[in-house]
Amino acid sequence: MSDFDVLIVGTGIVGHASAFTLSRLGLRVGVVGQSGIKANVQRTANGRPPFGNRVFAIRPSIKKFLTESLVWDGLSKERIQSITRMNVEGDAGERLTLDAHEAGVLELAWIVESENLKKSITKQLTNEPMVTQFNADITDVQRGGDEVRLATSQGLFTCKLLIGADGSKSMVRRCCDIKIQSRDYKYTGLVANFSIAHAHRGAAYQQMGSSGVIGYLPLPGNLVSVVWSTSDDLSGKINEETILSELKNRYDPLNIVSMESSLGRFPLKRGTPSSAAIDRVILVGDAAHQFLPLAGQGLNVGLADVETLASVVKDCGDVDPGCLSVTNRYRRARREEIESFTRFTELIHDMSSSDKAIYRTFQRFGFGAVNQIGILKRFFIDKALG
Ligand SMILES: Cc1cc2nc3c(=O)[nH]c(=O)nc-3n(C[C@H](O)[C@H](O)[C@H](O)COP(=O)(O)OP(=O)(O)OC[C@H]3O[C@@H](n4cnc5c(N)ncnc54)[C@H](O)[C@@H]3O)c2cc1C
Repeated sequence: MSDFDVLIVGTGIVGHASAFTLSRLGLRVGVVGQSGIKANVQRTANGRPPFGNRVFAIRPSIKKFLTESLVWDGLSKERIQSITRMNVEGDAGERLTLDAHEAGVLELAWIVESENLKKSITKQLTNEPMVTQFNADITDVQRGGDEVRLATSQGLFTCKLLIGADGSKSMVRRCCDIKIQSRDYKYTGLVANFSIAHAHRGAAYQQMGSSGVIGYLPLPGNLVSVVWSTSDDLSGKINEETILSELKNRYDPLNIVSMESSLGRFPLKRGTPSSAAIDRVILVGDAAHQFLPLAGQGLNVGLADVETLASVVKDCGDVDPGCLSVTNRYRRARREEIESFTRFTELIHDMSSSDKAIYRTFQRFGFGAVNQIGILKRFFIDKALG
């Protein structure tokens, strides 16, 4: 008998969510990671932690998944902001607006800080008696027969199904020889929070133009989180002292006043593995798909991987969770969403970074058309709602 039904490598949000979700199906789960999720909490003078500069826009279908997994209940609600309107603009003034009322819903998405989510997910994991956690590095993966052997710095472990939830540089992917097609955009994601003079009223703003893609996501009170994806050339010239004036000169729909967090920088790349599942090995989260944060969907798609995987394993009943029927069904079920977000973010990037007339015309015509034609607008709202 194998040591575990499932071994998960990776202790990020997607790895931990995979662990408690599969454990709740009655599987014996092991989690191998470097040091586990750490919630990095600082405090201000009034004792309340300031808002972190890493936030996620969570779509409704994933909020439902987090609610059913009891994670949503464990979040600090006063630190969550709902989005009721999304304004997308080109730098020539063309505009597309997606509104919750038009969609017949109360909210389009929710902004949740990374630390808030990590804390609640970690609590769910700690409550699971069937999960064993190892602080170890993996060194090798051997497949063959009806189990996988995982060599780690703590010894050798066997399992029926190995899950790579170890992020964009996945060691599981490398050890299993799963090829990856990547693109370095030579772009950086700059993230920071700002106080604002105009109330956001639950609206998110995004501009696609020659400065890249600048997004303003509403936070509780008079705060916004800025995610600015721009060329390495431009981002290299921007620092904590200059970002406020750079934003003011380029796109400032809410009249930002002061920076309220540190400035974070993330190199932006695309990584598309040749397959998200092979015999007895499944990839989830950024290990399975890394795309630009322009549509704010990486984590949403990663948690959708977990939800799909759990449903495939459950549908297969008591059979071996690493059998071909599970890996094949998972791969087929995830292919369409992964491919469509990869293509969509690539198109937005190429449209906003290119000065080719054809892209500019397409952007202008496209925004106008989607805004005017109900059925197209409905399609985009449905995509945003997931
Ligand atoms: C600027 C920016 C904004 C974003 N905004 C959004 C948003 O609004 N909404 C959204 O849905 N997504 C967003 N994303 C994407 C999102 O951040 C990622 O998709 C998500 O964090 C991926 O989670 P993960 O758990 O798969 O990977 P990771 O968070 O990378 O976690 C991987 C884990 O594996 C561990 N690990 C790595 N190697 C090993 C190893 N060899 N052995 C053991 N453990 C290992 C790591 O330490 C880490 O803990 C954004 C991304 C960026 C850059």
